[in-house]
Amino acid sequence: MNTSNHFFKTAQVCQNGHLRNSDTSTHAAKNEIFCSICGAEVISACPHCGSQLRGAYYMNKPIYSGTMCNVLEGRKLSSHISGYKDVKISNTVDVPAYCHNCGKPYPWTEATLQTAEHIIDMLDDLTEDQKKQLVDFIPDIIVETPQSRYAALVYAKFLDGLQGLAVDCFKDWLKKNVFPTLLVLLNMQKQ
Ligand SMILES: [Zn+2]
Ligand SMILES: [Zn+2]
Repeated sequence: MNTSNHFFKTAQVCQNGHLRNSDTSTHAAKNEIFCSICGAEVISACPHCGSQLRGAYYMNKPIYSGTMCNVLEGRKLSSHISGYKDVKISNTVDVPAYCHNCGKPYPWTEATLQTAEHIIDMLDDLTEDQKKQLVDFIPDIIVETPQSRYAALVYAKFLDGLQGLAVDCFKDWLKKNVFPTLLVLLNMQKQ
């Protein structure tokens, strides 16, 4: 038996990051082969290491059975574990950005990183060195890390005063992918 009594059910997520099923075994009827939102292939394991995508969080809880004996003599209830049952702790599943087992980005994260790289490459007013700095910091602005706030300041500084289609396109990307607390630093609070 598993040493830990907490465990995750397997989730299904499409290549573009849409959560399709938070518990593939209990709700097998909801399983999809292709995403019903965007048509992309659905996966339930990390393409790099094969470990499951974490879904609903459960606990294997012991069931106690007890008998009260010799109540008059003040004896206590004696109980023993008669079995176990799975109890759901949390069904809220946030689609993770990186694999918990191998640390590689999931396909939807890779797509996000690549899109940003392509757009940054089109920011003609930046030097190659500035572009490289922005690319290097992408992982720090889509997920909170110790470098995130510094990364956001670099982004704000480099983008300040820039204009054009690629810049607008990049700002849209930022609004969608940067984690919310950074939008303030980027001067891009959602209205
Ligand atoms: Zn999808
Ligand atoms: Zn992995």
